[in-house]
Amino acid sequence: MRLAEEHTPRAVAHVTPVAVAQAAGALLTDVDGNTFIDFAGGIGALNAGHRADEVVQAVKDQAERYLHLCFMVTLYEPYVRLAQKLNEITPGSFPKKTVLFNSGSEGVENAVKIARAYTKRPAVIAFERAFHGRTMLALSLTGQVHPYKDGMGPFFPDVYHIPFPYTYRCSAGREYPCCDVHSPEHLHEFFRTQAPADSVAALIAEPVLGEGGFVAPPPEYFQGVKRICEEQGIVFIADEVQTGFGRTGKMFAIDHFGVEPDIIVTAKSLAGGTPLSAVTGRAEIMDSPPLGSLGGTYGGHPLACAAALAAIDIIERDRLPERAQKIGARVLERFRNMQEQHRIIGDVRGIGAMVAMELVKDRSTKEPAADETAAIIRRCYESGLIVLKAGAGANVIRTLMPLVISDDDLDEGLGILERAVAEVAG
Ligand code: PMP
Repeated sequence: MRLAEEHTPRAVAHVTPVAVAQAAGALLTDVDGNTFIDFAGGIGALNAGHRADEVVQAVKDQAERYLHLCFMVTLYEPYVRLAQKLNEITPGSFPKKTVLFNSGSEGVENAVKIARAYTKRPAVIAFERAFHGRTMLALSLTGQVHPYKDGMGPFFPDVYHIPFPYTYRCSAGREYPCCDVHSPEHLHEFFRTQAPADSVAALIAEPVLGEGGFVAPPPEYFQGVKRICEEQGIVFIADEVQTGFGRTGKMFAIDHFGVEPDIIVTAKSLAGGTPLSAVTGRAEIMDSPPLGSLGGTYGGHPLACAAALAAIDIIERDRLPERAQKIGARVLERFRNMQEQHRIIGDVRGIGAMVAMELVKDRSTKEPAADETAAIIRRCYESGLIVLKAGAGANVIRTLMPLVISDDDLDEGLGILERAVAEVAG
């Protein structure tokens, strides 16, 4: 930790001071030989598990052939095969194309560029509380000030934020379902007061807010949004960087909402623990940017493409979306039991294995219990469980465990969390 503090900037905050020597499945071992159950999965990047055998083998085999070529210079098979696979498995039965990048942020940026090229319009609508990344356009789309945007402006022009339908914290102070602000029809008010519909290239949404606190909208919400986007010629972009590849109990979270996005951005668990992102979309949209305007030296790196093909195979073969449903049901039940015992837990919610508890100082004021949340997370890692917070109030505890976690490790992890909540709640 001391060396890290000396040589790396403090802005890259660490949830824990744990220094890892090895990882496998859903377990980490630190440099002193202590074992930790991992409910963080590299922030949702390891649905197929740490160091899955097939992923490691695919990377080794690929390393024997070539490391880097650059897809803008020569063709190579893993890139094209992965594009083909993503075109097959992403929602929508229309012809699709896929372009690959290195990170979720880069994927988001390029999705917006593609939508702008296609529509020849400038504006983009994103959601309050959304997270789309830390690079400048992605950061502009991110809808949370602290700690991401504070002091980092000015941001991209023509980016607008609308409220996300967060029923536990309705921004209009109403109860679902009688709130106009959280209705898709609110977009018409937006077009009247903020930007005309024919200036909007894209609307980008996480189907379930990730960093924003694991918030799913009401089931009918995205169908309404998509209908308005279609009426107005606006490209609907689903950011599935955190929600994709089985996390929510389906391959992609947007599948829960009966909507086919025009463009879907994936990263994280796409590639079994290697850096990769993908932008997949309707062929006519994807083909609209001019020649040479998309790409990047390392975008779709051969090692990451090989790893991704192996990781997707595992997710399909081992039916990890179904496993996510089972994990999620178990976690939800335990979280609900905790909520009955501890008034500090204001809300428990989940979709598949994307489960969260929101901690509040008082159930009626819903004042976020950020210090208590931090204390619980600290107690957890001191007792052998790595778990993450989320939410604009830093008061949500969320689960992103590898979906290959054993029932025993899952139960043990939940036990550690239960004890930590009990100790902090008093
Ligand atoms: N979009 C979403 C929904 C994310 O959760 C994240 C990362 N947490 C990103 C984009 C950015 O991805 P990256 O950190 O790989 O740039």
